[in-house]
Amino acid sequence: MSENIVEIIDLCKTYKDTKAVDHIHMTIQKGDIYGFIGRNGAGKSTTLKMIAGMIFPTSGEIRLFGEARNQFTARRIGSLIENPGLYPNLSAFDNMNLKAIAMGLKDKEKINEYLHLVQLDPQDKKIVKKFSLGMKQRLGIALALLGNPDLLILDEPINGLDPEGIREIREVIQYLNETKKITILISSHILLELSKIATRYGIIRNGQMIEEISAKELDEKCRNYLSVKVSSADRALSLLEENLDIHDYTIHENNEIRLYDDIESAAVTSLLSQHDIQIYQIYYQKQDLESYFLEKTGGNNHD
Ligand code: ATP
Repeated sequence: MSENIVEIIDLCKTYKDTKAVDHIHMTIQKGDIYGFIGRNGAGKSTTLKMIAGMIFPTSGEIRLFGEARNQFTARRIGSLIENPGLYPNLSAFDNMNLKAIAMGLKDKEKINEYLHLVQLDPQDKKIVKKFSLGMKQRLGIALALLGNPDLLILDEPINGLDPEGIREIREVIQYLNETKKITILISSHILLELSKIATRYGIIRNGQMIEEISAKELDEKCRNYLSVKVSSADRALSLLEENLDIHDYTIHENNEIRLYDDIESAAVTSLLSQHDIQIYQIYYQKQDLESYFLEKTGGNNHD
């Protein structure tokens, strides 16, 4: 059975009269790269801060690694939420060293390892003030890795980066997930930035969780298909299989068949009508990932 790393039950956070997070349920399983998607102001950061223990919920429950939050579960989480809190006049290594000292970590080799991992050079004396945004974000991730977390929480780590910077962060995330076996929770308001790596998604809108869906389920939903509503799905399918070599399909309510094979609607219509099967409706359904998410997150643009 898969292990739940994060389980959120009926979580709420209210600021005066703003319901930032409104009765959310969420499950993140071991090994997930969980993409948390929603427009600006949807409630992503507030949720992540509650999981990371930076703010308290108004109500609800957060279970981490199968337990109620406690000092031990807190130590298993690394996070990069909002500003990574870097010292601008220090190098990457010195920033890491200061945090390691503050955390009581003695193994200096880990600093080198984590910096290499995020593709920064521990020997480089360049100070953080002169870093690109991408370098700062990668250093932020390296800082979050100190303490060897099992869960890494990243709030919009690719926001504002150029395509090269985005690719670098993606590679780091994939490496941490696949090789270091770290479960990742990453938020973004732009789906396409996450769609190459996320294994599961949570979609949040106006503080409410609209949908949790695996990458596989999402792929299924976003496939193009020919929908055919007929008088008898069983008879139609045996004819389609036999005569048009159709094998990739699903059956839905009201005798609707969805055909995923590349097929002309005219061929289907002609075959079925020859055999006295009535066609009530036939149309092509095309939905790409981006339009699916725009519909769910409630926006026509990204802001
Ligand atoms: P963004 O990427 O813009 O931060 P988000 O999805 O992370 O978006 P949140 O930052 O969680 O959204 O904000 C959710 C709602 O809660 C917003 O309406 C925001 O204005 C409000 N909010 C967040 N923090 C506070 C706060 N400290 N005090 C009052 N309201 C807040």
